[in-house]
Amino acid sequence: MSKVILITGGSRGIGAATVRLAVQQAYAVCFSYHSQQHTAEALVQELRKQGGELLAIQADLSQEDDILKLFAACDQTFGRLDALVNNAGILEQQMPVQAMEAARLQRILSTNVIGSFLCAREAIKRMSTELGGRGGAIVNLSSVAARLGAPFEYVDYAASKGAIDSFTVGLAKEVAQVGIRVNAVRPGIIHTEIHASGGEPNRVERVKASIPMQRGGYPEEVARAILWLVSEQASYTSGAILEVAGGR
Ligand code: NAP
Repeated sequence: MSKVILITGGSRGIGAATVRLAVQQAYAVCFSYHSQQHTAEALVQELRKQGGELLAIQADLSQEDDILKLFAACDQTFGRLDALVNNAGILEQQMPVQAMEAARLQRILSTNVIGSFLCAREAIKRMSTELGGRGGAIVNLSSVAARLGAPFEYVDYAASKGAIDSFTVGLAKEVAQVGIRVNAVRPGIIHTEIHASGGEPNRVERVKASIPMQRGGYPEEVARAILWLVSEQASYTSGAILEVAGGR
């Protein structure tokens, strides 16, 4: 039977590239989307034509009930879990910290941080060898913003990714003995629609001259790093934070 990978935020960007590559690598894929049902369904149709086994589920990762339903649907369809990619993440309109409202901070932290914690908790319940699972792998999406801080743009988002780094290091140590490896990928500036959420769709063009490789990255370049960390090729790698940032 195929190995099963659950990827959050698989409808677009880095998540969709990871879904595509996982199908190519013969994983059965359960992925979540938030608002773009048509995009998610089109991806499922496209990849099923290539023989892919897929399930797309609507979920708001800031809501614990949605996370429980996502994992239950994955259980029901595939009956096992081998890997989790905590990919879904949001940022909001660029602004200095002095202008940020509490509701915004709650949205960012509950989606990016608490959502990732709760998904990891559900994955551990299913993958831990102590609890009858086969072991597995978790990959969290951090960002170079965690070490640069994103001043005047989205320090809240950067701080949420700093939390993801600490979460990765701590959780890796907690679950190493129950057969689960936990790692993070830290993308730099990647060509996706996330920059439009910050009010700057052409952010990659503006910033690219400051990147040592003089270009933005592509979602597929991040997906390859994610799936390497999930794979047995990375069998002794845990607690690592892998930069995929063109040297930035
Ligand atoms: P993206 O293109 O904006 O896609 C975001 C994905 O997350 C979509 O699938 C979206 O679903 C889903 N999503 C949004 N809000 C959600 C919510 N409340 N609950 C559940 N899912 C939600 O993002 P991306 O650029 O591919 O980024 C993917 C990850 O990489 C994020 O964690 C991001 O922080 C990180 N990252 C990105 C960059 C970059 O430059 N792009 C750099 C560093 C780190 P819908 O399509 O249904 O809306």
